[in-house]
Formats: sequence, structure tokens, C-alpha cells
Amino acid sequence: MDRRRFVEVTGLGLAGAAVPPTANLHRQPGRGFVQRGSGQAADIAVIGGGAFGGWTAFYLQQAQAQSVLIDAYGPGNPRSTSGGASRGIRAAYGDRAMYSRWAVRALDLWLQWEKEWEEELLIHTGRVALAPDLTDSIRSAMAVLDELGVEHELIQVDELVRRYPQFSPEGVGVAHWEPTAHTIRAAEACRAVARAFDREGGELRIARALPGGSSGGRLDWISLDDGTLLEADSYVFACGPWLPRMFPGLLGERIATPRRDVFFFGTPPGIELYGHPHMPNFSEAGFYGFPSIDHGGVKVAPVGGQVRFDPDTDERIVVGYQVRRAQEYVARRFPGLAGQPVIDSRVCQLEDTTDEHFIIDRHPEWENVWLAGGGTGHAFKHGPVLGEYIAARVLGQETDPAYDAQFAL
Ligand SMILES: Cc1cc2nc3c(=O)[nH]c(=O)nc-3n(C[C@H](O)[C@H](O)[C@H](O)COP(=O)(O)OP(=O)(O)OC[C@H]3O[C@@H](n4cnc5c(N)ncnc54)[C@H](O)[C@@H]3O)c2cc1C
Repeated sequence: MDRRRFVEVTGLGLAGAAVPPTANLHRQPGRGFVQRGSGQAADIAVIGGGAFGGWTAFYLQQAQAQSVLIDAYGPGNPRSTSGGASRGIRAAYGDRAMYSRWAVRALDLWLQWEKEWEEELLIHTGRVALAPDLTDSIRSAMAVLDELGVEHELIQVDELVRRYPQFSPEGVGVAHWEPTAHTIRAAEACRAVARAFDREGGELRIARALPGGSSGGRLDWISLDDGTLLEADSYVFACGPWLPRMFPGLLGERIATPRRDVFFFGTPPGIELYGHPHMPNFSEAGFYGFPSIDHGGVKVAPVGGQVRFDPDTDERIVVGYQVRRAQEYVARRFPGLAGQPVIDSRVCQLEDTTDEHFIIDRHPEWENVWLAGGGTGHAFKHGPVLGEYIAARVLGQETDPAYDAQFAL
């Protein structure tokens, strides 16, 4: 098992343990229960290699806590909420200053790790938030950004059109400009984090894991699809949209998984105006998007809708209603793109909590189990800070009590 210090139980010699709660568990006969040696560092299993789990495993491993990262389909896979081409990072968060603060630190960490790992993960796009007038949300965001020393500017509509002639000014009264906003290569970043985790000595496994037997208020082991039973000191379940079905009693009513259709519109031949670095990220009521990156088309995501989505089995095919919404929006906001075809699309799901705050807390019955998720459409950017924070909590280190309270179950 080289560097791995996890105890694997694959045989029938598991004295006194309950049968794992999976009907099709395949047990390999002949291998007995391996006792863990004493005096080892904390062994931690992180289940889920998305924004929450991947970064958590990386920071745990950095802190010398030998970790295994288990993902059913692989970090950044197309079913995961962290998959796909791109995610935005910006510090403007209305009046939710706690997330602005995290976003500022997260950007520093993204840039630091990107450099250290020699990866190309971030694209410096900037971002404009468009609104008919100066809304409370923009006003609050401006106050928070001032307090945090983040560069930003309120620009009037004629200035917006002068800087960015791609945008139609229709219905726009003001634009809030955040020059330090970036776009992150999402799936690529998940894979980069997993590679860094591996270099730190962690172990990545592609397998589905389910909670196994428990005793004395602790989870004793988890079961993998191949019949392996894996024992660790602590477990972090960072299973994104799979969390509510894995812990239905705890999270079934707390996390919803609505579908989201995302479109990439073609740009006219030979015209670079709609691509990075000529166009910024943009958002307004009902829609947001990014410029064409690597000539992949202008991304447009219609917001809203509560159609429940099964992350394992539902087909990821966009629906006509959302295609029309996106086309109408593009024709209105970017007249130069009117009639351009959808050249790519994807369907993903959110994991929306009832209060839009993340859930990061200890399982109420198993003191060595942590639940981490509920990204509610805004967690990807925070990945490195989430990883630092969750790792600290799992390792019993001090964290900001205000954040602990906000993320409580
Ligand atoms: C359309 C869209 C746009 C978004 N835009 C932004 C944005 O611009 N900026 C931003 O910050 N955020 C954005 N988000 C939100 C962000 O992407 C999510 O909050 C974040 O990616 C959630 O990460 P996660 O780790 O919780 O979940 P996931 O990425 O889904 O990771 C969970 C992982 O767990 C694995 N898994 C599940 N069950 C098991 C199991 N039993 N055993 C083993 N593995 C398992 C899965 O394979 C998966 O890889 C957006 C989300 C969507 C859908």
C-alpha cells in the first residue's frame, strides 16, 4: 500500500461489523481485517473531489494529515457541479461581506497556487454588473469593497458603451465595474488541485463511497463500490448535489438540486470583440455570462427555475425554453451576436441551501464525520479558502466563529 495508511477491509473477517448499506456490494473473500498500527497521523477520507472536497483534501495533505480523496466519477467530471469550462470569481456580494472577504483571499490563493503549480487556471476578465439604476445590492457591494480595499467603479451607461461597444445600453442605467474579477477554468482547476494533492502524497481513488458501520457515536468505515471497506479517523463528505440523497434525514429538506442550462454562442467570423480580452464577464437580473475564451463562444447562463435534477441519471440536454430565453437575451444585450448559433451547451445542477449559505458542520450523530457543501451557485471561487477552512476544522484548529455559526447545519 506504499504511502497509503488507510485500513482496507475487503474480506468477510470483519468481526462484529454491520453489513454496508449497499445491496450490490461485492466482497472479495479471503482478506481479513487489517488493524491500524498505533501512533499514526490522522488518516482522513474526503469523499468528493469538487470545489469543496478537492481543496480540502489538498490542504489536509499539506498539513501532513494523510488523506485519501475518493470521487465516483473523477474530479471536475461533467456530472459534478464543479465541472464545465468556466466559473467566475468576483468580490462583489451585495451586503454579504463574509463572502466578499473570502473571495478576496481566495483570489490571492488561486493566483499563488496557479503560479506555484505552473498551471493556467485563471483568466483576467474583469466584470460588469448591469442594472437599471443604483440598486441596494450594488450600493452595499460598493461599501463592502471600499472597506476591503477592492478596486471598483460605478460607470455611467455612455461610458460603458464607449469602453465596451458590444453591449447594448437598453434598460441599463448604471454598470458596476470590478476590474480584479477573473474567470477560472473550472474542470481543469479541479484536476489541477487533484494533481497537486497527489504530489503532496495524497491518494486519489475513483470509486463511489457510502457511509458504512458506526459505533460509539463514530463512523467506523465507508464502503466502496468494488467491495473495499475503508477505515479512517475522520471522514469529510463533500458530495455536492449528491449530499441530500446520501443524508436524506439531515439534508433532504435543506439542499435542493435545480437544473441549470448554460449556452455558448458563436461569434461572427473574424470578429474578436466578443472574446477575452476585449469583453468582460457580465451579469444582470436573470442572466450572467463570460466572454468567449479560447474561441469557445460567449457563455450565457439564464438564472432561475426550480426543476429538480438527478445528478446521476438525468440527461444533460438543454431544453427549448431555455434556448429561447438565452437567444432573446443575446439579441437584446449583444445586437452584434443576434442570430449567432448556440455552438456549445451544457446542463448542470446547483445545490441550493434554504438560506443560500454553505453548510460545513460536524454530523450530529457521528463526531468524526464532516459535511461540506450547499454551494448555492457561488462556491467554486472560494475553493482554496474552503479547503483551508474545512481542513482546519477537521484538524481541530481555530477558525472564525462567525463563519462556523453561519455554516452550521
Ligand atoms: C451553472 C453554474 C454556474 C456557476 N457559476 C459559478 C461561478 O461563476 N462562480 C462560483 O464561485 N460558483 C459558481 N457555481 C457554483 C459552483 O460551481 C458550486 O458551488 C461548486 O462547484 C460546488 O462544488 P461541490 O464540491 O460542492 O460539488 P461537486 O463539484 O458536485 O463535487 C462533488 C463531487 O462528489 C462526487 N461524489 C458524489 N457522491 C459521491 C460518492 N458517493 N462517492 C464518491 N464521490 C462522490 C462527485 O462525483 C463530484 O465530483 C456555479 C454552478 C452552476 C451549476
